[in-house]
Amino acid sequence: MNALPPLAAGIELIALTKQYALDSVAVDSINLRIASGSYCCLLGPSGCGKSTTLRMIAGHESTTSGDILLENRNITHLPAAGRGTAMMFQSFALFPHLSALDNVAFSLKMKGVAKDARHRQAQDLLERVAMGHLSARKPGELSGGQQQRVALARALITQPRVLLLDEPLSALDPFLRVQMRAELRRWQKELGLTFIHVTHSQEEAMALADTMVVMNHGRIEQVGSPHEVYNRPASEFVARFMGGHNVLETTLGKVAVRNDHIHLAPLAHGDNGWPATVHDVEYQGNHVLLGLRLAEGSGAGAGDNVSVMLPEATFVQRPYAPGDQVSMTWAAWQAHTFPPTLAA
Ligand code: ADP
Ligand code: MG
Repeated sequence: MNALPPLAAGIELIALTKQYALDSVAVDSINLRIASGSYCCLLGPSGCGKSTTLRMIAGHESTTSGDILLENRNITHLPAAGRGTAMMFQSFALFPHLSALDNVAFSLKMKGVAKDARHRQAQDLLERVAMGHLSARKPGELSGGQQQRVALARALITQPRVLLLDEPLSALDPFLRVQMRAELRRWQKELGLTFIHVTHSQEEAMALADTMVVMNHGRIEQVGSPHEVYNRPASEFVARFMGGHNVLETTLGKVAVRNDHIHLAPLAHGDNGWPATVHDVEYQGNHVLLGLRLAEGSGAGAGDNVSVMLPEATFVQRPYAPGDQVSMTWAAWQAHTFPPTLAA
């Protein structure tokens, strides 16, 4: 088939706000620019405002104040169908009684496009996602991966500039979820479209995103590449939410240390590590996760929990068991100090 016209475009949110009730601000004056043709993940705990943000971009939810620009065009008050966005829902939400072809053609049917024309366009799109040969099948006769491609084709039939995905993978089993996210990533790059993908899974966001947007209580805590967010969390919230970090209250202030950056040795007199006691050992395949409790004389609160991730080979060479007393050290440059907390 002919290549689709160039579709990529950027989204800009300006002081975007949604207040459902007087005392409940779901999205609190957020500012965000999403680059054209990039994969952006909105990440955060349940209730932080991700879906509300996405639905305002889609036009499925009105805004309280602020603006939404797509390609520098203000779309804030346009109807959903006139925005140049399309939505892909959880578990793909295909119509079970319709063939793949009719699922993809559905929105054209709603627009009154004649059967021949809409079937031709739908077939073209199914071919584009390598599903042309299965267009007569119903969703129940397709694998999860094939269903995802049909859902993608169905979303693309309106020629959107931006594809919006709300937890599209969260109802899938873990194995399929990992396969499907690789496929989403591949299609995004191949199509060159802007994807905005809502997830509460930091693992999923890190695997997919060019840009991660970490949200909390209707606000943006941090925007950056997965590498930037994981290595330089902007706040205690981000460090804790991303996981893999210990947030420690030291005499120098609050610091985050990745659990794979902490070295352990058996406790010896006169060393300058922090003393701790092992209370939990969890085998994780290529790593072993140790739960430690800080002892008196460490640089932070005695009794605080610390997690340490050791490569399996390191652990096998020098195993630890619950009750062992150890000394923790890390390189000073690997302790990430948070910038002064912003006033709430
Ligand atoms: P997320 O997708 O991050 O889990 P939501 O955007 O769905 O969060 O919700 C953000 C906040 O807004 C939550 O406190 C939620 O209870 C509230 N909320 C969402 N939708 C509505 C609604 N239609 N009416 C009232 N409050 C809502
Ligand atoms: Mg949601």
